[in-house]
Amino acid sequence: MDISKIFLNNNGTPKFKPDISFNYYVFIKIFMENLDTIEEDLKLLRKTIKESFNCAYDSVSTRVSNIYGYEFSFSIYGKDLFLWDHSGGTAIGNVLLDDDLTARKEQLNKMIQLTEKFTNGIIECGLCGKDMNYQENRSHRYHAGIYCFDCWMSKIKEIEAKETYN
Ligand SMILES: [Zn+2]
Repeated sequence: MDISKIFLNNNGTPKFKPDISFNYYVFIKIFMENLDTIEEDLKLLRKTIKESFNCAYDSVSTRVSNIYGYEFSFSIYGKDLFLWDHSGGTAIGNVLLDDDLTARKEQLNKMIQLTEKFTNGIIECGLCGKDMNYQENRSHRYHAGIYCFDCWMSKIKEIEAKETYN
């Protein structure tokens, strides 16, 4: 691939970050396919991009855009689908995809709804799952998860404190 030098560093690596972004419609279609091979298929796609652009594998993220055009990062491990915000720093949701296609379609629609909610400032508590305002609760953070005030005070804070002092 011949890319203009203005886009490349002296060592040939790109100055840009190539990402793989699907719209929500394609995203749902992809995960309605064979789940036994999807993790490997996406790995191969990332590897192809990595090799085409001579960049680090880790810098190629897989993304889904919602109806508003906002992008979210996702990963699949086996049948376990994880969704994060644009930066990958905040967990939006995760689901173990069902083998039953009707149930799986609902799960995938729910994942897309979570991205739409997040664009509108709403995130589910990482423990009890209730809807809450992201900005008001973003400080209740443990790893990539955000928790409501009650879960934070009653459970998460304690776990975090134990880890800190161990
Ligand atoms: Zn909660």
